[in-house]
Amino acid sequence: MADKILVSGASGFIASHIIEKLLAAGSEIVGTVRDPANYEKTAHLMTMKGAETHLTLVAADLNDSDPFSDYVDVDIIMHTASPYVLTVKNAQRDLVAPAVNGTLSMLTAAAKSKRVRRVILTSSMAAVTDEPDGRLLTEADWNNESSLTRNPYFYSKVLAERAAWDFMKRENPHFDLIVINPFLVIGPAHTASINTSHQILVDLVNGNFPAIIDLTWGFVDVRDVADAHIAAANIQAASGRYVCATATIDMSKVVDIARANGWGHAKLPKMSLTGPLGTALTKLASYTQPSGAGSYLRTHVGRALRFDNSKIRNELAINFRSPETSIRDALVDLAKWNHIPQPR
Ligand code: NDP
Repeated sequence: MADKILVSGASGFIASHIIEKLLAAGSEIVGTVRDPANYEKTAHLMTMKGAETHLTLVAADLNDSDPFSDYVDVDIIMHTASPYVLTVKNAQRDLVAPAVNGTLSMLTAAAKSKRVRRVILTSSMAAVTDEPDGRLLTEADWNNESSLTRNPYFYSKVLAERAAWDFMKRENPHFDLIVINPFLVIGPAHTASINTSHQILVDLVNGNFPAIIDLTWGFVDVRDVADAHIAAANIQAASGRYVCATATIDMSKVVDIARANGWGHAKLPKMSLTGPLGTALTKLASYTQPSGAGSYLRTHVGRALRFDNSKIRNELAINFRSPETSIRDALVDLAKWNHIPQPR
């Protein structure tokens, strides 16, 4: 891919993988970060192979009024920047405003550049469902339940994605919009910081879950998410939204995988609280958790999760890694950064 590409939120977990792959493909990249001089957040990018000649980091904050207009002389934009935290003090200020304003700022800036031919937005399965109910989720589904008080991170993602599609309809710009909707993204990280999705694995191995509860997740490997963004840029016929996740997997299976890969000595939960009584107890206990985590537990525990990933497999040719591989690789990486004990 020889295009020039703007990647927002360049220092992030997903964006770092995208940039590494784009550099390997010889693309020229402009990456936005809040502070290019913050070496702690940018060193891993600037030391990537090819970065010296092909990567420029520039400053952009989603809360500024026009953060991106100076950087849109590019062919493709990948807008990944958005706050990814479950618990915040002020959901409107800390989650919704940067997510929505950042997305609209990016699209508005893109519309001013004749060169941009496609914008790829990193949305989320959080924009597809707030409370899975066993129905087969597809790209046609929308989360209509989240609010500032109920799964506010989910709310920020659904509002940002809706704002993007509304913009496309209203402004009819010269570029098209492709949206990637990943589930919980895990896998090797370029930095020591613990992504919100990895916190689940860290908590599980470090004994913060006193019991196995009836939670089911849809994981996706960060390397596959990066491939999906790049395929969305390269494949002319790509269109619309893409559910981006491999398979569902429940907590007891994740514990089994951790045990089988050398973490049997760690503080993995042993007791099972997976029946209806356990689920009722978990919901009660959720009120003792930080607000975002508590809300997540109440809307997800005891809920069957099903989704259809055939569109992304067929149209973007994504051949997902198995959850076993991604969980193993994520755990090995978390141990490397000393977030969990070393495997034995
Ligand atoms: P990270 O937290 O690693 O990355 C988020 C990026 O957004 C960071 O680079 C962060 O910059 C940037 N950002 C946040 N707030 C602002 C702001 N006000 N101004 C400028 N930049 C900002 O998370 P991920 O890589 O996991 O997430 C990337 C995208 O993927 C997000 O849109 C997220 O919602 C989405 N996503 C993630 C999933 C996951 O499981 N990881 C699942 C589904 C979707 P800084 O480093 O300065 O904080």
